[in-house]
Amino acid sequence: MRSMQLVNFGDPLVATVNKHPDPTDTEIVIRILACGVCHSDLHLFDGFFDLGDGKSIDMSKRLKLPFTLGHEIVGEVVALGPEVRGPELGDIKLVYPWIGCSRCDLCRKDLEHLCVQPRFIGTWVPGGFSDHVIVPHERYLVNIGHLEPSAACVYACSGLTAYSALNKVLPQARNESLLIIGAGGLGLMAIGIARALGANKLIATDVDPRKRQAALNSGVNFAIDSTADDALTHVREICDGGPQTVIDFVGSSQTTRFGFECLGRGGSLVIVGLFGGNLTVPAPMFPLRSVNILSSFVGNLNEMHDLMSLAISGKLPPPTVQTRPLSEANEALADLRDGKVIGRTVLEP
Ligand SMILES: [Zn+2]
Ligand SMILES: [Zn+2]
Repeated sequence: MRSMQLVNFGDPLVATVNKHPDPTDTEIVIRILACGVCHSDLHLFDGFFDLGDGKSIDMSKRLKLPFTLGHEIVGEVVALGPEVRGPELGDIKLVYPWIGCSRCDLCRKDLEHLCVQPRFIGTWVPGGFSDHVIVPHERYLVNIGHLEPSAACVYACSGLTAYSALNKVLPQARNESLLIIGAGGLGLMAIGIARALGANKLIATDVDPRKRQAALNSGVNFAIDSTADDALTHVREICDGGPQTVIDFVGSSQTTRFGFECLGRGGSLVIVGLFGGNLTVPAPMFPLRSVNILSSFVGNLNEMHDLMSLAISGKLPPPTVQTRPLSEANEALADLRDGKVIGRTVLEP
């Protein structure tokens, strides 16, 4: 099995050849057709997560090197363990990567993605920057219908993250004004999903005029630069006092403060982005304005199935992807870090 592996944190990935995986019990071997490159791959590559204000989470201790990154995987079923009953050889499936221990209370409540003993593919166990990957059970394989593997794979993380954040604030995100902060890949994905779910009072903010234009092209009613002097007034005017729902896909100090301040009375702010920032709010502001702060991290397996059904139905705009050979994984990571990637880069072995 050929992979591009992380051998030292911060150093370029190394092309390696390892023994071909042999499935046991309920395991399934997938021959990878496409694997998206996500911002989280960059954090793991560096070995730490920036929390802002000079604080960070050190991930170099929990990750045993060499390690294979990559958690947005679509591939072909090529080998089955003796206890596998469902999928057949040759099936093309999306891999749900947010796999838990399957024994704890969270896992039993279908909240595997919050499990404290995770087996997340590509962030805790070997992932998709490779030509093959092992999936522990058939329940984590999701249909992609007629979708191209390179387009479908991005739903496993960026699509699911956008979908689950919206899912937490339905129905008001559909029926009342919805402000989306950040019109990068995740924000644009959320705009497409929100429109498919019926939202039609949509506003987006971004500091980059090209991204504001992309948001307008995706169907938002207004696109605003949240760093402009009149941005807060502008949003409040458009939304009759303030939006009922704000989803922050950036998560910097500036964006979370803006999101909280512009929120209408009784509204909800959902923090999703991991940019690294702080929010300080006087506690009485919560009851006085009756606002809520929620958070969202990827999504559960049911949401993954619901999102793929929506994508297969043709109601979502096709995600913007650029494919590159797996051997260019280092260049793909460097371009993502430099902000050169529009949409998603997808690696193909
Ligand atoms: Zn991701
Ligand atoms: Zn668990």
